[in-house]
Amino acid sequence: MRYSGFRVIKEALTGHKGWKPTWRDAEPQPEYDIIIIGGGGHGLATAYYLAKQFGQKRIAVVEKGWIGGGNVGRNTTIIRSNYMLDGNEPFYEFSLKLWEGLEQDFNYNAMVSQRGILNLIHSDPQRDAFVRRGNAMILNGADAEYLSREQLQEELPFLNYDNARFPIKGGLAQRRGGTVRHDAVAWGYARGADQHGVDIIQNCEVKGIRQKNGKAIGVETSRGFIGAKKIGCAVAGNSSRIMGMVNRKLPIESHVLQAFVSEGLKPVLPGVITFGAGHFYVSQSDKGGLVFGGDIDGYNSYAQRGNLPVVEDVCEGGMAIMPMIGRARVLRMWGGVMDMSMDGSPIIDKTDIEGLYFNGGWCYGGFKATPASGWCFAHLLAKDEPHETATAYRFDRFHKGLMIDEKGMGAQPNLH
Ligand SMILES: Cc1cc2nc3c(=O)[nH]c(=O)nc-3n(C[C@H](O)[C@H](O)[C@H](O)COP(=O)(O)OP(=O)(O)OC[C@H]3O[C@@H](n4cnc5c(N)ncnc54)[C@H](O)[C@@H]3O)c2cc1C
Repeated sequence: MRYSGFRVIKEALTGHKGWKPTWRDAEPQPEYDIIIIGGGGHGLATAYYLAKQFGQKRIAVVEKGWIGGGNVGRNTTIIRSNYMLDGNEPFYEFSLKLWEGLEQDFNYNAMVSQRGILNLIHSDPQRDAFVRRGNAMILNGADAEYLSREQLQEELPFLNYDNARFPIKGGLAQRRGGTVRHDAVAWGYARGADQHGVDIIQNCEVKGIRQKNGKAIGVETSRGFIGAKKIGCAVAGNSSRIMGMVNRKLPIESHVLQAFVSEGLKPVLPGVITFGAGHFYVSQSDKGGLVFGGDIDGYNSYAQRGNLPVVEDVCEGGMAIMPMIGRARVLRMWGGVMDMSMDGSPIIDKTDIEGLYFNGGWCYGGFKATPASGWCFAHLLAKDEPHETATAYRFDRFHKGLMIDEKGMGAQPNLH
């Protein structure tokens, strides 16, 4: 079934009897050509592009819970490609371009909204650093715009420009950045993959990876063994657990990140705004809630919930740049498990076990990467070679010292 305005009118006039389930609830088959572990955004996008773009058949996505229950449905929905380093920027710009055509491509309203993202500048050295980043973005074909304090005062009069500690001196904007309805991305990719014949198997936890003669030949699951010629792991915060099943240690730590939503307000924020001196980012959803977040909790955990000191820290960040936020009441908050890598950048690579491929290390920036991550992982699984925008995302960079350390923090996963 294709979705369209015509379809909505037709269904409205005929009692809404014609809508079909968005995807089939598939039963596991004994064997597939390719199994993707993890039905988050990255796993579903991989399956979708494997089938649609790379002509692969007999594909299954195996998800331990329900589609949209992981980070893909827990994030603060921000998309952007404002990276500086050559290893990152072409990949994230590729992703942003895919976002721009995604809804037409998979025929689903994911509410892609290029309302812009603004990084605030609070000191002269920070201005230098941000202008450098903007220039690097432009050189890589992305858009970036420096905004003076005066321009910002005109566009966003409610910001606290004269905060004694963190005065606002300007900003780096990417107008093509913005937000996307996060769980609709999971549903859209699930529907698109299903329409191309992919089996989406929910409530099916992978508990082991069976090997024969050093080759991965299938997954042991809560619903029995499922054979596969190739297995792709895309489980985000649970990456270390899955790779632990084959006794491999990853350059990744799992940490909690929280998100917050306020009560619904009249439109007040035109786009995404980030605090440049602390860690706070905020946008306003189409329902009116302010959607915001900040730092990770800072301790290793697989729990999808956070603790109160971070709530205080995040709210302080908000108060520093826009004191009006203190009048809004927080309605909901939750946590997700982040796969924080040693240099803050992801991994899309084969493992040393034949037939087993890995996608992870997205830290808390993997939502914006979903389309490109899916495309590049599908490329790797189908062709056994990396996509041109993901050549830097290999395991061996940690051996060779070729870090893609966007923040310059060093091997400190909790600080990336
Ligand atoms: C609070 C928060 C805010 C964020 N904000 C942003 C943002 O604004 N912008 C941005 O770009 N990124 C953001 N992120 C990061 C982004 O959400 C993640 O990097 C990205 O969603 C991870 O990829 P995924 O969608 O595939 O993960 P997930 O949705 O977590 O998918 C992984 C799936 O694997 C499944 N799984 C795990 N173990 C097994 C198993 N043994 N067997 C079968 N299935 C298994 C899980 O159930 C899960 O559904 C944020 C994350 C959080 C938590």
